[in-house]
Amino acid sequence: MSDYFYNSSENTIFFYESLKTYQLNEIGIHVFEKYVKNVQINEIIYSIANEYEVDLAEAAQDVHALVAEFKQIGINPNVSIQNKSNKEDDFSLVSGCFHLHTPIVHIIQNCNSPCKMCDCWKTKEKNWHPAKELKTFFKKAKQLGAIAIMVSGGEPLLHPELRQIITDLKEIGLRVMLNTNALLLHKNLWIADLNLERLVVSMDGYNPETYKSYRGLNGYQIVWDNLKLFQKKSPSTQIGIRTILNKDNYDKMELLFDAIEENGMHGVGLSPADVSSISFSRNDIDKEKEKFLISLLLPSEDQINDFLQAFTAESAYYKKIEAAAEKGLSSWKPYDFIRCMLFYLGILKGEEAMFANRPCFFPYTSLVLDYNGDLRNCFYSPAFGNLYNFESIDWSFQNSMKGLKESGKCKSCRGNVFCGAQIPQSAKIPYADI
Ligand code: SF4
Ligand code: SF4
Repeated sequence: MSDYFYNSSENTIFFYESLKTYQLNEIGIHVFEKYVKNVQINEIIYSIANEYEVDLAEAAQDVHALVAEFKQIGINPNVSIQNKSNKEDDFSLVSGCFHLHTPIVHIIQNCNSPCKMCDCWKTKEKNWHPAKELKTFFKKAKQLGAIAIMVSGGEPLLHPELRQIITDLKEIGLRVMLNTNALLLHKNLWIADLNLERLVVSMDGYNPETYKSYRGLNGYQIVWDNLKLFQKKSPSTQIGIRTILNKDNYDKMELLFDAIEENGMHGVGLSPADVSSISFSRNDIDKEKEKFLISLLLPSEDQINDFLQAFTAESAYYKKIEAAAEKGLSSWKPYDFIRCMLFYLGILKGEEAMFANRPCFFPYTSLVLDYNGDLRNCFYSPAFGNLYNFESIDWSFQNSMKGLKESGKCKSCRGNVFCGAQIPQSAKIPYADI
């Protein structure tokens, strides 16, 4: 781990390669800022002792422990790249600190699963990007430093040129992550021969009933059976289940962990619900649809408050999540569950400015290729170019990031939970110091 982004607004260090974020406390920041400037350790100890009025022995213990941790996670003042955030103007920093890792590429809009929170499957006309055009983008992504592409949809298994697309990616030297609902995997087992890096399978439910209530069909067992078939043929591919934290699973996540272990898969990637954007092909989103999505996906205010009261470090459920995160079974730690529930509470209370207007980490390391060929810094930003007008793409992102800043979308965006370190500003003690 070497290249990182230091965000002094949020006291975080974000590593580009591992996509891990470390949160520092006040003393951590003080030591970090001096350490990366090669200030002598003894000098740092004296400054901590003076600033925080602690005795030298205590300051020395803290400083040595922190420096050891910095070294362990790969922060070395001589080789690391340090970038500092500039509070409200973080939008203009994206261009200079851009470090592409894994762009998300929607290769097709059509889908075969009638999910209730997504309208891709309602797309009547065939809408996919030809392999030839995608190849141009993949080459550019590689030049920009990408190591992998998240191939997404709609349902990528419906794309008539999927084999060509994966072959091109391999040829260019990019790892392939395939985001699929897996319903057609048994008919596409040739994919298992192509040595994919990861299969990401959206499930949302933890049993046949909950699967159907979100995904609109009886696919639960089909998906597990298909994944087992796939795994037998390609044991080196990581298989991750993806789920929105929703009103059915927020307090039953262990059921999904158990199902994953029983079926020999690799872990759960959690994400916060999006109930209000035009993403997921929801072109007709309005207040009524937002209300429907809230009732479909989010726990009630009472449920959230009860959850937050009970979800303490001593509770059995907290410990289960903590243990699952440590084992790599859950992408979220207990802290992330709390942040997501606070975010949901803000939505239910109609708060429009839950967060400071700053971009999360997503635009620094990723980008989105949309169904119409638009390239965006994140799902919610204006486009900075289009696949079908490749020469005119503005890789400086100046206008798109300016547009994102002016839109104020970051203030109420789930990206702050998913790829950021902010907690909702209205969060009160005891949640404020999580
Ligand atoms: S959520 Fe995924 S599987 Fe469901 S309709 Fe949308 S693209 Fe298809
Ligand atoms: S917070 Fe949301 S709108 Fe802002 S940069 Fe992140 S994903 Fe985009």
